[in-house]
Amino acid sequence: MRKDTMSFRTKLFSGLRRIAYRMFTIFDRVFRIPEPRVVVFAYHSIAEDSWRYSIDRASFEQQITRLLRKRKPRSLSELARHISGEAPFTEPSFVLCFDDGYRDILDVFDFLRDSGVTPSVFPLADRAHADTSELGTDRAFLGTEELRFLAKSGWEIGCHSATHRDMWALSSKQVAQETVGAKRMLESEVGVPIRFFAYPRGRSTKVVRRALRDAGFLLALSMDDGFVEPGIDPFRVPRVGVDRTHTVSECETLFSTSAIVFRATVKRWLPSWF
Ligand SMILES: [Zn+2]
Repeated sequence: MRKDTMSFRTKLFSGLRRIAYRMFTIFDRVFRIPEPRVVVFAYHSIAEDSWRYSIDRASFEQQITRLLRKRKPRSLSELARHISGEAPFTEPSFVLCFDDGYRDILDVFDFLRDSGVTPSVFPLADRAHADTSELGTDRAFLGTEELRFLAKSGWEIGCHSATHRDMWALSSKQVAQETVGAKRMLESEVGVPIRFFAYPRGRSTKVVRRALRDAGFLLALSMDDGFVEPGIDPFRVPRVGVDRTHTVSECETLFSTSAIVFRATVKRWLPSWF
């Protein structure tokens, strides 16, 4: 992740993207294309600053409030049962994730509890050695007591690797450290089973996915575009990222069926754009 100060280029790109998403939403309505049954969202930081992956508290609360009008909040454990086919969702649903485990997400703890949302947080296991150049920020992480408090409050604690290294560039020894090693570290730190993984940058390899499966993880989440239906690969669960370049109303158009298909197609043909 890189720093971004909302340059003219970013603003222009965001404006064009907003128009495109609005058109996809209208297209789906006209042709009665149903919205995806479940959407998994990835947020990072709740703060009013210039980091691209921060979002201010008021906008975040408005986005979640709007989502709750149409969709039921679900936990990752429920999502695992949906994907395995054990208990598929019958109503429009969403799952909320926070990657990296920044302390500032505690600002929305009360709001989420009062809204009935059970989020998941994906901290790094070895935060003392976090790769801050990969992260693009050096903001404070949640500490051990805060993670234990969140776990006791019903939040699900996942794992976002040990140090946030790029999974595409690891030796086999590093794969073990960043997957099974990270799981063990977090389990002994927080005192709960760690069953969910979010790939740094959303990127994985076959070797990494196999290591996670062997380590006993239930699900691993990417930043790919796709539909979260029963029977999909539980180690490549697609998510929709939301950051400060998205307006509140745009948030509802990010996951129209046509928008997901469009993004998946663009990423396949023009991966360097992302
Ligand atoms: Zn991350």
